[in-house]
Amino acid sequence: PAEELKDGLVTIPTIKADNVVAESNGGKNQSTVSITVVGASGDLAKKKIFPALFALYYEGCLPEHFTIFGYARSKMTDAELRDMVSRTLTCRIDKRANCNEKMEEFLKRCFYHSGQYDSQEHFVALDKKLKEHEGGRLSNRLFYLSIPPNIFVDAVKCASSSASSVNGWTRVIVEKPFGRDSKTSAALTKSLKQYLEEDQIFRSVLRFSNLIFEPLWSRQYIRNVQFIFSEDFGTEGRGGYFDNYGIIRDIMQNHLLQILALFAMETPVSLDAEDIRNEKVKVLRSMRPIQLEDVVIGQYKGQTTGGVTYPGYTDDKTVPKDSLTPTFAAAALFIDNARWDGVPFLMKAGKALNTRSAEIRVQFRHVPGNLYNRNSGTDLDQTTNELVIRVQPDEAIYLKINNKVPGLGMRLDRSNLNLLYSARYSKEIPDAYERLLLDAIEGERRLFIRSDELNAAWALFTPLLKEIEEKKTIPEFYPYGSRGPVGAHYLAAKHKVQWG
Ligand code: NDP
Repeated sequence: PAEELKDGLVTIPTIKADNVVAESNGGKNQSTVSITVVGASGDLAKKKIFPALFALYYEGCLPEHFTIFGYARSKMTDAELRDMVSRTLTCRIDKRANCNEKMEEFLKRCFYHSGQYDSQEHFVALDKKLKEHEGGRLSNRLFYLSIPPNIFVDAVKCASSSASSVNGWTRVIVEKPFGRDSKTSAALTKSLKQYLEEDQIFRSVLRFSNLIFEPLWSRQYIRNVQFIFSEDFGTEGRGGYFDNYGIIRDIMQNHLLQILALFAMETPVSLDAEDIRNEKVKVLRSMRPIQLEDVVIGQYKGQTTGGVTYPGYTDDKTVPKDSLTPTFAAAALFIDNARWDGVPFLMKAGKALNTRSAEIRVQFRHVPGNLYNRNSGTDLDQTTNELVIRVQPDEAIYLKINNKVPGLGMRLDRSNLNLLYSARYSKEIPDAYERLLLDAIEGERRLFIRSDELNAAWALFTPLLKEIEEKKTIPEFYPYGSRGPVGAHYLAAKHKVQWG
C-alpha cells in the first residue's frame, strides 16, 4: 500500500472503514499498533487490561492509529465485548465532561474474535481481520496473554505464526507464573524461544514495578530492609490457581525478589533496560541460598469476630481440604557482596491479614554512642530512623525521624516526614498495568524480567520450595484478619530486628 514521501513527510491513505476513526492530522502517522488481548473474556482482561488501555488512550499515550482485539473461545460479538468492557472503564483519571465521549471513541476501536488458543487456523482468521484494520500501515502487534499458563506455549506458537507477514514488530506479554520451579521455568522459556526471540517476550512482574531506586545504600548505614506485601482478604472461592503455587511462588519469588534486586543493585551504567537487568542479575546471583530455618510459612484459618465468620483457606471449595499450601511466608535473605554483607533482607507476604499494604521499610543503624539513649533510657529501637516506601494503598514515602519533645525534658519522640503522593501531586498515579502496556508498546524493557534473571530467581527459591514440599512442612495456622503467625516475629528477632 502506497506510503510515499511528500515534502519529507510520510503520508498514508486515510482508512475508509467507518468503524475506525479517521486520522485527524491528515494521515501523517505511518504506523499502527494492534493490541490483541488473548483471554479477553477473563477476569484480568476485564478488571485490569482494558481499563489500562483506556487510560492510556485517554492520556494520549497510544499511537494515533491503533486497534484492540479481544480473543478468547467464548462466543461474543463486537457489541457484546464493548458492553462488557464498558462496565469496567471509569473516568477516574479525569472527570472532565468529554470523558464519556472518549469512552465511546475508545470502544469503537475494540473488536472481538472468537477462537481456540491452539488453532493456527483461528489465528490466521484473526490475522486477516487485523490486517483489514491496519489498512496497509506499518503494522506493530502486541499480544497480551491473559490466559492460564498451561496454554501459553500453544497461544504463542499460533500468535507468532503471522509475525513474518507483519512489517513492524510483534511482541508478546506473558503473565506470571513463569513455571513452578527452575525446571518448569526453563522448559517454558525453551518453548517460548522456539517461536520468539528474547526481545519479543515481555514477562510481566507487576504490583511493585513502578519503583526504581537510586541505590545509595549500604551496610554502613542500613541495618535491615523489609519487603512487605499483605492482603486483607483470602482466596474467596478462587483458590484453585493459588493452591497449585502458594504465596512463595505467587508473591515472593517474583514481586518481592524483583524489588529486592532493584533496591540492592549497584548503580547501573545507564538507565537502559539491559544495564539495569545486568545489575539485577548480579544481585540475585550473589544471594546466599535460603535456609529453611530462615523461613516461616503459615496458612489462615477461619475466624469469627463480631458475629461475622471469615472462612479459613481450606474452607474455600476450590482448595483441597488437606492442603498444606502456604498463604503466608516470611523469610530472611542475605546478599553476600561487599555492599550488603550481614544485612538481613526480610520478606513477608500473606493473605487474609489485618491490613492491605505493599511497602519497603529501610531501617537505619543506630547512631553510635547515642547521647539521647544514655540520658533518657529510651529503648534502642526507638532511636533508629526508618524510611518507608509505601506502594499500596496510598503511594507515599516517609521518613520516621526522632525529635526531641519540646520542653525542658530530654525525651525523644518519633515523627514522620511524609510525602503522600496524592496530596503532593494532583495527577492520578498510573496503574501498574498502564505503565506495563505502555512500556511494551514502546519496547521499553526495564520493568520486564529477562530469562537469565528468571533463572537466577528460580535458582534461589527452587531448593527451598522442594524442601518444604518434600518434608510436607506444616504451615503455622493464623486467624483470618490477624497479623500472621507469631513465628514471623521470632524470625525477625533471631536476626535482631523488628518488623516495621
Ligand atoms: P481466567 O481464569 O479468568 O482466564 C482467562 C480466560 O482464559 C478465560 O476467560 C477463558 O476464556 C480462558 N481459559 C480459562 N481456563 C482455561 C482453560 N483451562 N483452557 C483454555 N482456556 C481457558 O484468568 P485471569 O483473567 O484471572 O488471569 C489471566 C492470567 O493472568 C493467568 O495466567 C493468571 O495467572 C494471571 N494473573 C491474573 C491476575 C488477576 O488478578 N486475575 C493477577 C496476576 C496474574 P474462554 O473460555 O473464553 O476461552
